[in-house]
Amino acid sequence: MGEDGQRRLLGSSAAIVGCGAIGASTAQLLARAGVGRLCVLDRDFVEPSNLQRQALFDEDDAREALPKAAAAVRKLRSLNSEIEIEAVVADVSSQNVDELLRGFDLILDGTDNFETRFVVNDYAVQAGRPWIYAAAVGSYGVTFAIRPGETACLACLMETTDRSMLEETCDTAGILGPAVSLVSSLEAAEALKLLSGRFAAMHGRLVSCDVWSGRMQSVRVTRNTSCRTCARREFPYLEGEAQPHITMCGRDSVQIHERRRSLDLRLLESNLAAAGMAVKQNGFLLKFSAPPYEMTVFGDGRAILKGSTDPAVARSLYARYIGA
Ligand SMILES: [Zn+2]
Repeated sequence: MGEDGQRRLLGSSAAIVGCGAIGASTAQLLARAGVGRLCVLDRDFVEPSNLQRQALFDEDDAREALPKAAAAVRKLRSLNSEIEIEAVVADVSSQNVDELLRGFDLILDGTDNFETRFVVNDYAVQAGRPWIYAAAVGSYGVTFAIRPGETACLACLMETTDRSMLEETCDTAGILGPAVSLVSSLEAAEALKLLSGRFAAMHGRLVSCDVWSGRMQSVRVTRNTSCRTCARREFPYLEGEAQPHITMCGRDSVQIHERRRSLDLRLLESNLAAAGMAVKQNGFLLKFSAPPYEMTVFGDGRAILKGSTDPAVARSLYARYIGA
C-alpha cells in the first residue's frame, strides 16, 4: 500500500464491536498495521474458557476477570504505542449505537449474535458507513465487507444465504481457534484496503471457509433491489422497541439490562461480603456466587447471570442482591 497508504491508515479510525475471538484477532492485526484510532467495544469479561481462541487474552486477564475491552486495550497498547486506542465496556444496542459508533470510518464485526449485527447493519446503512460482517462457528467462518449503496447489506445477504449455517451459535457448537484466525485475517485485509483508500482492491465477495473440511467458497452477492434495509431504507432495529429487559446471553446465562444506573461496586462488595458471600471486585465489575448461580455486575448496572435462563430467576436475584 506504500507510504501514502500507510499515512492514510494512520489518519483513519475503526470501531470493533465485540472483542471476543474474531474481534480480538482483528483488533490486533489493525493495531499492528497502524490504524490511527481504534475503539474496542465489548460487554463481557475474560474467562478461562475464552483462552483457547481469543488471542489477546491470557491467564492473568481471566484470573482478574477483566472486561474484555479493558484487557484488549492494555495488550494493544503494548503492541503499538503510536496509535490511539480506547476501550468501551458496554453492550451496543439501538439505544447507544449512534453515540458509540458515530464518526468512525469503519465498523468491524466482532459480535457473537445477530441481534447486535442487525442493529449495526441498520445503523451503518442509515449513516452510509462501511462495515464488515464476520462470524465463525465450529470450524466454519464467513465474512463480507458491506459498503452501503455499493454492495449488498447484511439484510440482503440473509435473503440469499443458508441461514442455518450462520445461526448456529458458538455456545452450542463451540469454535475452533484456527477458524477464528482465518476469518479475522480476511476481515482485517478488507479493512486495511478500505482504510488505506484502496477501494479498487476490495473483492466485494462473501468468503466462507471450513478449516476442517478444507472447503473454501467465494461468491459474488448481489443487492436485493427490494431489500427492506438498503433499498426501502426501513430501520426497525434502530427504531425498535427499547431493549428487552432480559436477554439470552450464551448457554445457561442471561443478561439483565439496566438503564444506565451507576453502581458503587465497592459499596456493593462490602455489603455482599458482610452477608457472607464470596465476592470479587476489580473496579470494572463485581462477581459473586449464590450457588447454583453466579452473577457478574458491571458499573453501569448491567448484570450477567450464569446458571439459569429463566428471566424470573434473574429478576429476583438481581432485586435481592443488587437492589431494584
Ligand atoms: Zn440490503
